[in-house]
Amino acid sequence: MLLEVKNIEKSFEKDVPVVRSTSFEVKENEIFALLGPSGCGKTTTLRLISGFEKLDKGEVYLEGKLLSSESTHAAPQKRGIGFVFQDYALFPHMSALDNVAFGLTNLPRFKRKVFAEEVLCRTGMGDHKHKSPAELSGGQQQRVALARAIAPEPKLVLLDEPFSNLDAMLRDSTRKEVRAILKKAGMSAVLVTHDQEEALSFADRIAVMNDGQIEQIGTPEEVYYKPRTKFVAQFLGRTNLFEANVEDSDMIFTQIGCLKLNCRAKGRITCSIRPEHLTIEKANGQTLGCTRGVVVAREFKGHDITYHVECNGERFIVHTDNRILFEKNDEVVLRALEPAVVLERVN
Ligand code: ADP
Ligand code: MG
Repeated sequence: MLLEVKNIEKSFEKDVPVVRSTSFEVKENEIFALLGPSGCGKTTTLRLISGFEKLDKGEVYLEGKLLSSESTHAAPQKRGIGFVFQDYALFPHMSALDNVAFGLTNLPRFKRKVFAEEVLCRTGMGDHKHKSPAELSGGQQQRVALARAIAPEPKLVLLDEPFSNLDAMLRDSTRKEVRAILKKAGMSAVLVTHDQEEALSFADRIAVMNDGQIEQIGTPEEVYYKPRTKFVAQFLGRTNLFEANVEDSDMIFTQIGCLKLNCRAKGRITCSIRPEHLTIEKANGQTLGCTRGVVVAREFKGHDITYHVECNGERFIVHTDNRILFEKNDEVVLRALEPAVVLERVN
C-alpha cells in the first residue's frame, strides 16, 4: 500500500473535530478522490497528509513509513509528496521555468533547468517557460503548478480542487490531460473536489466525505450505483428515494408499483433508484393493472430529458433520451430497469 491514513482526527477549536476518525488507503498508481460538500474537511485531510497541518490523533504512512502521529511529524518537504494548491500558489516574481526548477534541490544546480523544461514540455507548457504567472491564463498556471508538483518525482501528488478556477470547457479537457500525465508518469494522486462529476470521471476510487467523516469508499460505479447512505445517494446525483416496511423480502410495494430490491431486507427501509434506471411509457391498454402517474414537469437538456412524474401523491424523476417525448398531464407508467438499492444508513 502506498498511502495509509489511519483514524486521523483534527480539531482547530477545542473539541470540535473537523476531521473525525478518518481512514483510507491509496494504492500504487491509483488516482483517489475525496469528494464532499464545502466545509466537510477535505482540505484539512489533505493538509494532514502533506504535513502542512499537525494531526491530533491517528497515523499517516507512506510506503510503510510513519510520517504523522500524535508524537511524530515529518516536515512537508521531507515527505516525498507533491501538492497542487487550489490557487496554484506559483511564485509571482519567477518564470514558469524557475517555478518548476525551484523545488529540484535533489539535482545538481546545472541540471535543474534542463529537467524543469522537460517536465514543462510534458505538461504542454514548454513554449511558455520564460513567462511569469501574471502572463499566463488560469489553465496555463494550472499546468505549471502541476509540473512543479510532479517534477521532483514524488510518490504521491495531492491536488486540492485544481480545476475549480477553470471555465467549463477548459476544465473538462484539462482534467483528461492531467489524468493522462499522472497515469503516464505512474504517479498516485489524491484529488479533493466538491464536484461529483469531476470525481466520477477523474478517479479510480472515491471516498465520499460528509461532516468530517467518510461515508463510503468505492469505484465511481460502486458509489454511484450502490450508495450505502442517503447522503451518498443524494450527493452523487439525483435519485428517487422510497420508504417502506418489508417483511423479510426482496420486493417492496411503492407508489409506482412493485420494486425489486438489490438484497433481502426486513423492517423499515429506505431505498434509492437512479432516474436513468426508471423507464416511462404511456398508460394504455397494455399497462392495465400498473400504477399510473401523471407528468407534472419536463426539463429538456438537449441530449436527454428529465420528467417529473407524480404517482399517488409523490414525485419521481426519470431520465430518458431525447426521442421519448411526453407532454405535461400525460398519463404514464414508470418501471424499474434495475433493483432499488437498500440504504444502510438514512441520516
Ligand atoms: P473543505 O476543504 O471540505 O471545504 P476544510 O477542510 O477547508 O473543508 O474545512 C473544514 C472545517 O474546518 C471548516 O469548518 C473550516 O472553517 C474549518 N477550518 C479549516 N481550517 C481551519 C483553520 N486553520 N482554523 C480554524 N478552522 C479551520
Ligand atoms: Mg477545501
